[in-house]
Amino acid sequence: MISRNQQLFERSQKYIPGGVNSPVRAFKSVGGTPVFFRRGKGAHVWDADDKTYIDYVGSWGPLILGHAHPEVIEAVEAAAQNGLTFGAPTEAELEIAELLCKLVSSIEQVRLVSSGTEATMSAIRLARGYTSRNRIIKFEGCYHGHDDALLVKAGSGALTFGHPSSAGVPEETASSTMVLDYNDLAGVEQAFNQFGDKIAAVIVEPVAGNMNLVAPKPGFLAGIRELCTKHGSVLIFDEVMTGFRVGLECAQGLFGIKPDLTTLGKVIGGGMPMAAFGGRRNIMQCLAPVGAVYQAGTLSGNPVAVAAGLATLKQVQAPRFYENLAASTRQLTEGLAGAAKKHDIDFCAQAVGGMFGLYFRNNLPSSYAEVMGCDREAFNRFFHAMLREGIYFAPSAFEAGFVSAAHGETEISDTLAAAERIFSAWSL
Ligand code: PLP
Repeated sequence: MISRNQQLFERSQKYIPGGVNSPVRAFKSVGGTPVFFRRGKGAHVWDADDKTYIDYVGSWGPLILGHAHPEVIEAVEAAAQNGLTFGAPTEAELEIAELLCKLVSSIEQVRLVSSGTEATMSAIRLARGYTSRNRIIKFEGCYHGHDDALLVKAGSGALTFGHPSSAGVPEETASSTMVLDYNDLAGVEQAFNQFGDKIAAVIVEPVAGNMNLVAPKPGFLAGIRELCTKHGSVLIFDEVMTGFRVGLECAQGLFGIKPDLTTLGKVIGGGMPMAAFGGRRNIMQCLAPVGAVYQAGTLSGNPVAVAAGLATLKQVQAPRFYENLAASTRQLTEGLAGAAKKHDIDFCAQAVGGMFGLYFRNNLPSSYAEVMGCDREAFNRFFHAMLREGIYFAPSAFEAGFVSAAHGETEISDTLAAAERIFSAWSL
């Protein structure tokens, strides 16, 4: 009999391109029918056929407290009772802005937006406006949302300008973006030596979470910081994923490096559409209405989204919140790696705070090329076997995974037991 998931997917494809509202949801990379969810609670989600899963996607990062956390839901309900949007300032917006500036020391002023894409797009415009320069450096494998200037892949040589990575992005736009190798500081140095006075900004994920997970090599981020300072370019840490995911001071706190601008999203919206960009006051003062760089949004600082964000940020400030989250995440990655090793499978895993990477290769990758070298077939097989066991990992070998505070001993040990069953039958 055809499942309700399949029925829904067939219907969806008639009305929604590819049946989904964001491409990676379509299971194109792993094959099969995407799971339609109808409910989530804590670490669990239920699909349209009422099958339960332990969820390691958490809506791609926002749900650090798990699904439907009672205090977040209560805050959202209370805010909604007072009106959904005003398009005018509210006290709650000020409260979250103050809190972000207090928690992240590089942020002196902040502006709220509705998505990570808006945050990075606006940060790039601001960096260009502030420096009166055009060129941008990004790194291959880092994703910063779908702004034209950032949907760019590497040109044919290391220091050539980029090409659109999507149809519809003008060549002229892409050609202002240089795409370099993550963790290759020498490449960044070379780019600055050649084009230093033209580079408006370097944008980087301080832990790359959009090519599976690649941690920065020691010295990589510090080296970029130094080069940006020397050449008067704006360093943008895209912490849409890592912000409040790897620690209370975000990845910049973990590595002790202050960017000029930071983009935030996901966790700070607690599951609602909210994101932000902020940083040095003198740069932020270039934004309208004070300065000449235009940026705006009908729903920016939406009171319901802000309420969800404030309720979430309150919880993550609890003592030992991040120590506990990191310990659960490590328990998961070490357990998975241990099970694979026992059965002689080329596999490794690593955690940074509450995010993790799983790799079907025998050592941790430190570059995009190494991530691309992982065994995709093996990942897809593992993904579907785990899905049947009721474990929902990201449906792509190139995405990071997320553990929430609602993932306890039981969820982690159930996950490891499922992996053990799969790995023990791996070569049969
Ligand atoms: N930046 C990073 C690092 C991201 O991971 C994402 C989304 O996954 C974005 C920006 C874009 O955010 P959004 O999907 O909210 O537009």
